[in-house]
Amino acid sequence: MADRIQKLLQQKPDANSITVKGWVRTRRDTGSFSFLEINDGSCLSNLQVIVDGSLSNYEEEVTKLSAGCSVVVTGVLQDSPAKGQTVELHAATVTVLGWADPETYPLQKKRHTLEFLRSISHLRPRTNALGAVTRVRSRLTIAVNRFFQERDFIQVHTPIITTSDCEGAGEMFQVSAAGEKKDAPFFGSPAGLTVSGQLQAEVYALALGNVYTFGPTFRAENSNTSRHLAEFWMIEPEMAFCDLACNMELATDLLKFVLQDVLENCTEDLALCNKFIEKGLLQKLQDVVDKDFVHLTYSAAVEELQKVNDDFEYPVEWGIDLQSEHERYLTEKVYKCPVIVTDYPASIKPFYMRVSDDGKTVAAMDILVPGIGEIVGGSQREERLDVLEKRMNDAGIDTKEYDWYLDLRRYGTVPHAGFGLGFERLVQFATGMSNIREVIPFPRTPGFAPC
Ligand code: ATP
Ligand code: MN
Repeated sequence: MADRIQKLLQQKPDANSITVKGWVRTRRDTGSFSFLEINDGSCLSNLQVIVDGSLSNYEEEVTKLSAGCSVVVTGVLQDSPAKGQTVELHAATVTVLGWADPETYPLQKKRHTLEFLRSISHLRPRTNALGAVTRVRSRLTIAVNRFFQERDFIQVHTPIITTSDCEGAGEMFQVSAAGEKKDAPFFGSPAGLTVSGQLQAEVYALALGNVYTFGPTFRAENSNTSRHLAEFWMIEPEMAFCDLACNMELATDLLKFVLQDVLENCTEDLALCNKFIEKGLLQKLQDVVDKDFVHLTYSAAVEELQKVNDDFEYPVEWGIDLQSEHERYLTEKVYKCPVIVTDYPASIKPFYMRVSDDGKTVAAMDILVPGIGEIVGGSQREERLDVLEKRMNDAGIDTKEYDWYLDLRRYGTVPHAGFGLGFERLVQFATGMSNIREVIPFPRTPGFAPC
């Protein structure tokens, strides 16, 4: 394996020959030298390579290198006199692996809009911004797994193909075998892509205690917003012997932990985001790590929102589902920090959420963050068989199809709770990207699914 630039930039110069493999970002010729900026994706920074005109392929090849060409360079690291870099590579050999015709290669030096880059999703990871986002996303994945590992949670892989529609909202993609007959479906009954791993995570929580699932979910969202994808990843912990308070505590700790982790481990990439994507990003993230979240009941939120009802497209009254404009008003204008809204009306929440003693609300909690709105949705689950059956009947759900789910309440039921954290919304929040299409490698939205 070649030396990775991220490591090399932290090294001291020495006389040993090293090998670097990467892509040319820029070339500049002065006198009898060429200066190449090489990037290999390991970090945002490029490595400066000095090529002496005496190299055998200097005229023929080196002076024809342009952005996007792939090269293998051998040489020695020396102290760099240039500002902002410690070492540079003095080349002994430069081998060109692949050319990139400057007449047609779309990524020239000028800055491109994120919209344009979306139209070349096979090339955009080669840009600074998308490279940075991809590394932050990867680090967040590691941080999420570390968080749960440190707390002895067990990771469960819930199915992608499912025969139960968790939300019951009809946002499912159907799955069938090519040419399958309607009366003889491949799986014996109609199947779809999962919209949430929650129900299956509950099965495992009621056997193993604390579990989490972290996988892709699919929703045929017909809303073309900057926060919705048809395919997105979700982190869903589920805890036995846990109530709403313990659920909120875990969600708060998780958000703080993973953001702290990227602040420590993605400094260079986040500095870029802070400069070009969202001014004040670093301070925003540090505040989330340091400060308490605001806790607020749905009823209190409604009162707060009604003070400025005229400003909303959808006026607020008790019983409505909060719209994005309401969520963002609370977290951006009123409290200016993450807000946890609890105790929503039972009528607007799914059947599995635990009905409170007032009979009108459920033990639900959503976490709202500035710039995004809802990032987490969770609840304590209904563990009482009779109450759950009544809720399902009221919602018109066939209890026979969920017999397995009801068995969890028939045999050794316990209070339990969990939530879903939308991973792309987390990456959006951490990088400041305003459109969710920028934080997943290959976004899928209505009418759009390249590569
Ligand atoms: P919203 O009201 O924003 O559509 P939701 O109430 O449908 O969200 P849940 O069903 O509670 O969301 O899902 C849990 C989390 O998954 C949400 O808090 C959000 O972070 C994320 N999420 C939901 N739908 C999408 C989507 N289409 N694309 C990306 N993330 C999503
Ligand atoms: Mn939704």
